[in-house]
Amino acid sequence: MTAHLAPVAPFDLVIFGGTGDLALRKLLPALLRRYADGQISHDSRIYGVARQAESDTSYRATVGAALARAVGDDPVLQARIASFLELVAYRTIDATGDAGWAELAAELLAHGEARVRVFYLSTSPQLFVAICKHLRDTGLNGGNARVVLEKPIGHDLTSAAAINDAVGSAFTENQIFRIDHYLGKETVQNLLALRFANALFEPLWNAGRIDHVQITVAETVGLEQRASYYDGAGALRDMVQNHLLQLLCMVAMEPPAALHADAVRDEKLKVLRALRPITGDNAAVATVRGQYRAGAASGKAVAGYLDELGNRDSRTETFVALKVEVDNWRWAGVPFYLRTGKRLAERVSEIVVTFREVPHSIFDESAGRITPNQLVLRLQPDEGVKLGLMLKEPGPGGLRLRHVPLDMSFAEAFGGHQPEAYERLLMDVVRGNPTLFMRRDEVEAAWRWIDPILSAWKDIREAPKPYTAGSWGPSAAVALIERDGRTWHEDTL
Ligand code: NAD
Repeated sequence: MTAHLAPVAPFDLVIFGGTGDLALRKLLPALLRRYADGQISHDSRIYGVARQAESDTSYRATVGAALARAVGDDPVLQARIASFLELVAYRTIDATGDAGWAELAAELLAHGEARVRVFYLSTSPQLFVAICKHLRDTGLNGGNARVVLEKPIGHDLTSAAAINDAVGSAFTENQIFRIDHYLGKETVQNLLALRFANALFEPLWNAGRIDHVQITVAETVGLEQRASYYDGAGALRDMVQNHLLQLLCMVAMEPPAALHADAVRDEKLKVLRALRPITGDNAAVATVRGQYRAGAASGKAVAGYLDELGNRDSRTETFVALKVEVDNWRWAGVPFYLRTGKRLAERVSEIVVTFREVPHSIFDESAGRITPNQLVLRLQPDEGVKLGLMLKEPGPGGLRLRHVPLDMSFAEAFGGHQPEAYERLLMDVVRGNPTLFMRRDEVEAAWRWIDPILSAWKDIREAPKPYTAGSWGPSAAVALIERDGRTWHEDTL
């Protein structure tokens, strides 16, 4: 819902990688929506930057076509595209060269030092160092400048620290916005609201009342256009190091003293530091790696990973399931089961908190089994929250219990368009609010926990377990949770 809009001050936003997939498919449509809602004023400027030669006119045509695709048949947004494109310009710069930077700097600095300048690095991370060096050398890093870094920030702790050092030599930590778009999702922010704006949940939010937590981020897509990046990364680096661990932190963190960036991030950091290490000793039982074989996705036959990649030797995991323990007072003995993968049965991202069973049942057998309460936070599709409760089936003839949902779909509850994560996050950058962005120590703490898993896998030298495209992953992932007498959540509510 966009009823309470706070317009942002006019700004300059420079998107390095302005011709890329992320810029055209996500960032520019998000900006159009904020513009159409009146949050972005007409004197703001959006510069696409990339190395290919383009004019403002040709770039606007490319952006216009991408926007038209993104907004579909929404007549209000379609009608605003032409006016939005007046904000858009293009500058040709090869990030690795010296040409074009002085001109860009002169143009931006002419807008005044006080104006907010956002540099969005929507490029391969290999270019981050060169871009930041040029921004520093041309004096574009001062005043109200901010830099946004896309994932992946490194492929291990050492490389992440190197990127952070390089970016840190041009920008101070409070100018750096490391984006994890999962944190911009309404449901994730609603997790904060549910936990900390209701008296109901927090007293139950601990090992005494919660049995376990599941976090699933399932995709139906395969490699798409990301083959070379993905094959070098795998599901653990691509999804768990950032998105799944960030979601885990939001569930597990202690209440921050206030909704201030550092208060929230301090609490998330404590969770990351409390994660029990998964090393050579326990990797074989606490982790499952999988790789999809041929099967079906969205009703169509699809090739297996190795054929899609064109390399029969790859051992990259396209699926991972983990049993994670948070070694602190609140969560002792409460497992967090994480799973993510490509070519799975459904596209769904959700957090499921399963409460403990009632200590004693007063009902006789004919009433049916009492299912533990479950809080399901769905991030996609259809963002919303469901709380599974046991109720009596209506009607005479004895008391029969049924597990029914208190269901709150955000689209139904609040109506209208649910803002995309990037809409919220881009406006937070312009406003200078880093609460939903990752601080350096968080990113590095996450890698510090991930690195031993990667090296344990290397030592074990086992090929990832095959699973059929369109399934829920290898059977070992089912065994991982069933061994503990639990099952992966199925949407039965
Ligand atoms: P892409 O390959 O589609 O685009 C890369 C952009 O960088 C292009 O505009 C290209 O022209 C530009 N570029 C390449 N070399 C350059 C150079 N030397 N100088 C200047 N510009 C140069 O990639 P993408 O999918 O848009 O992803 C960009 C970044 O965002 C990557 O790090 C990716 O991992 C990350 N990311 C992408 C998505 C997504 O949905 N596409 C999601 C999350 C993170």
